[in-house]
Amino acid sequence: RAAQTGVIQATPGIHLVQGAEDRMGFLMMLPVYSDPSKSAQQRQDRLRGFVLGVFSVAALIDALQARFPEVLQGRVLEVIDHTDADRLLFRSAAPDLSPMSGWHAPVMMPVAGRQWSLRLRNLDRSSERLSWVAPLVLAFGLLTTALLTLFLRGVLLRERQVRREVESRTAELRRSELESRTIVETAVDAIITIDTQGLILQFNPAAEKLLGFRAEEVLGRNVKVLMPDPIRSEHDSYLQHYLRTREPRVIGVGRETTALHKEGFEVPIHLSLGFAPSPEHPMFVGVLKDMSREREASLALQKARDTAEQASRQKSAFINTVSHELRTPLTVILGYLPLLKNTQQALAPAMVADIADQMSQSGQHLLDLINDVLDFSKIEAGQLRLMPETLDAHMLVEEVLERFRLQAEQKGIVLENQTAQHGLFADPRRVRQILINLVGNAIKFTQSGCVKVLSHRDGKQLVLTVSDTGAGIPGADIYEIFEAFHQVDNSSTRKVGGTGLGLTITRQLVELHGGHIWVDSCPGEGSQFHFSLPLLDEQQQRRNNS
Ligand code: ADP
Repeated sequence: RAAQTGVIQATPGIHLVQGAEDRMGFLMMLPVYSDPSKSAQQRQDRLRGFVLGVFSVAALIDALQARFPEVLQGRVLEVIDHTDADRLLFRSAAPDLSPMSGWHAPVMMPVAGRQWSLRLRNLDRSSERLSWVAPLVLAFGLLTTALLTLFLRGVLLRERQVRREVESRTAELRRSELESRTIVETAVDAIITIDTQGLILQFNPAAEKLLGFRAEEVLGRNVKVLMPDPIRSEHDSYLQHYLRTREPRVIGVGRETTALHKEGFEVPIHLSLGFAPSPEHPMFVGVLKDMSREREASLALQKARDTAEQASRQKSAFINTVSHELRTPLTVILGYLPLLKNTQQALAPAMVADIADQMSQSGQHLLDLINDVLDFSKIEAGQLRLMPETLDAHMLVEEVLERFRLQAEQKGIVLENQTAQHGLFADPRRVRQILINLVGNAIKFTQSGCVKVLSHRDGKQLVLTVSDTGAGIPGADIYEIFEAFHQVDNSSTRKVGGTGLGLTITRQLVELHGGHIWVDSCPGEGSQFHFSLPLLDEQQQRRNNS
């Protein structure tokens, strides 16, 4: 009825289970709607439930008696509910009064949708006029009304309090949710949460940056998409094992591992994993720290260590080679000395000339070797300064080839200068040294055929090529011959000797000029060493002419 009428309704009298004695009481039901502003008809569908109040009739009368003690003194009061059938709700002091006579006329009063009546009689059967009936009824009416008002006010207050509490809790929840969302969204480290099936629940912006996926691309997908093999294939069983045994392998302990980027490459990460065992939403929280820099730094360190170790090995090899190379011409010189010192047996002048020749060649070789070593350390220490000037490429090549002409003829090798006349702006002493090294090597490693020097322009640079028809360089060595002390390990190298420094110095000299050096070679057919040098530009040319 409360639902139908939309107003508070009382039940018929009921026996209350509250309290020790079996007391008569009634319930009041107040319907509650989700939208109280609507009309009664519209409110019907918005009924959310009832507020229920439990009242004891005796307690009601007790309160009445306390207010009006003289009115009920020596009298019997009855409260009867007439709504469905007449039912006695209350009777004060209940001696045997049957048959019920001497009652004053009852007063009817409506109570929350029901019809109650009150009636009184004197215990001493006197027929005194009940002039106090009217105030009593009024008092009873006031009391029930006050009761109802208090009840309603209590309900309303409680509802308002509940609403306020709900609002403040909601605000608090919203704030704490905002706080946690802000923390997750602004975290520098990637944060990924998954449920117990491995499905991704959260993927913060740092995770997007680290792994290249946008959150909407991975939310709801299995976290395995972010893992490379073999971790990927073992992940399900890790998860199940943990949920079954709660035995932590990774959880609670950080470890270094790799994640899979959207582009397919692996990203080194440090992973800290935690488990939130909430009964409704248990989940795993992973914090991924990008370790790329650390990994790079450690690789760089490893590389630096390897390079240092290699350099140290090379230095030892160099000392060996250089000592050996220095000893050879010295042995020649020292070997001839006893012959020259021998006063007993004078040598023929032609013989002395020949020995002097041999000693001079060995001395020159020794000097070249020492110069090489000195140049190398000077360049390494950054102390070699160029003295560039204008020079003619063709003439410089001609001068260098001239030096080797005799040596080449002896081996039956033809020397050709096919360079055009180009103005260069370079240090003549150092360009000469570059050409001597390359042409010298070409003749050294060529048994027959020809060695030629060619040139062509390439933008603001002149490319010079020293080409031979000699042994050639195996593919494996081609990138390393410009490294210090590197020699191709074959019989021809062993036969002709050398320090493995010539090409290193040559490369450094070319690079000091702002040029490049590279080689094309076909083993058994010959090699072409190309290097570029700065051409004399028009401005310099004009300055020189003036
Ligand atoms: P080296 O003093 O040993 O000649 P280089 O640095 O000048 O030192 O040369 C390094 C190595 O490169 C040589 O030992 C040789 O094996 C190879 N090489 C250089 N030039 C040539 C060439 N024209 N033909 C074949 N091999 C060459």
